[in-house]
Amino acid sequence: MTPPAVPQFDTSIWGGAVMNATTGLPVPATIAIRDGLIAGVFSADHRVEATATIDARGLLVTAGLIDLHAHVFRQSTDLAVDADRIGVDQGVTTIVDAGSTGAVDFADFRAHVIEPAATRVYSFINISDTGLTAGRTELSRMEDVGTPALHRLLGQEAHRSIRGIKARMSASVVGANGIEPLRVARRFASEFSLPVMVHVGTEPPVYADVLDLLVEGDVVSHAFHGKRGGLFGGGSRIDPAALRARDRGVLFDVGHGSASFSFETLERALVAGFAPDLASTDLHTENVDGPVHSLVTTLNKLLAVGLPLDLVLGYATANAAAVLGESATLGSVQIGKVADISLLHVGDGSAELTDSQGATRRAGLTLAARGAIRAGVLQRQGAIL
Ligand SMILES: [Zn+2]
Repeated sequence: MTPPAVPQFDTSIWGGAVMNATTGLPVPATIAIRDGLIAGVFSADHRVEATATIDARGLLVTAGLIDLHAHVFRQSTDLAVDADRIGVDQGVTTIVDAGSTGAVDFADFRAHVIEPAATRVYSFINISDTGLTAGRTELSRMEDVGTPALHRLLGQEAHRSIRGIKARMSASVVGANGIEPLRVARRFASEFSLPVMVHVGTEPPVYADVLDLLVEGDVVSHAFHGKRGGLFGGGSRIDPAALRARDRGVLFDVGHGSASFSFETLERALVAGFAPDLASTDLHTENVDGPVHSLVTTLNKLLAVGLPLDLVLGYATANAAAVLGESATLGSVQIGKVADISLLHVGDGSAELTDSQGATRRAGLTLAARGAIRAGVLQRQGAIL
């Protein structure tokens, strides 16, 4: 008796329309997965033999969505939400915790968040040893900033679990230290070839002083906030420091948050030709029930102001993967890449969407999460049935 033939692939995803940010239009296709990698992308009528099949009929199939700025260190900060609640449960395969943890708590973060999560989790480590675990004034004590403990940790974890350095440059965070914590962050980032993510908020430090310290690949989060100062500097023109930074390759991230995303600021920026590069959420306990809700909701807000779907998907896939140093492995549906996939439903928008200022827009097109596949494994079967 001959044994039954072993299927060529572990899993196939069929019936959906596959879309990469770079190619623009969704194309009906079947994705074949083997050993956690995308092993084939076939035309929809091609018969693929696989051990398991995921039915994606009626869905958009994209590279796994990446949220570059959220807070998921539940064990040690009151701000944090569960990584899987805002991750795979919401169609997001990768989350970066942006600065919740510093060097002191990193081992706990790894044990309690990174390892057990179904979602892929990375850290942008706080340049302060305490991160957000000891109040929200972490850069007001220079003795905690850029310590030998952080240096040792980066020696072990840079480009592994740690993919960047976070510095929150707001008056309430830095106290009397001005931009000095950012100088230290940039020095550490240079030594370990990592990007810096800065939070920009209420001045001081002066917006231009912050941006002028950033280099190619660094990220300005909360870039489209509606507070005083920032992108428009209180005037009608884009701050020259932002234009200079963009010319150098500094990236501008939505970083929605409770108080940091304004439809009006973004619309003014678009009129001035200054679109975002990235679209993270800054999700935490105080905004997960509104106004932020999820990464997909944040993307819907960008669609609502008229940004095209391919560009918006690119913010949370290919562009975000590049920041993580994972362009070769994540960020697009391509043979040889890791099989991190998001399954999304595309509907006609009728929902009213709200920014951090309470302003609303109506979506013309809305995405809704239907499933997340991490390294070839469907994480929430129920979500797509
Ligand atoms: Zn944040």
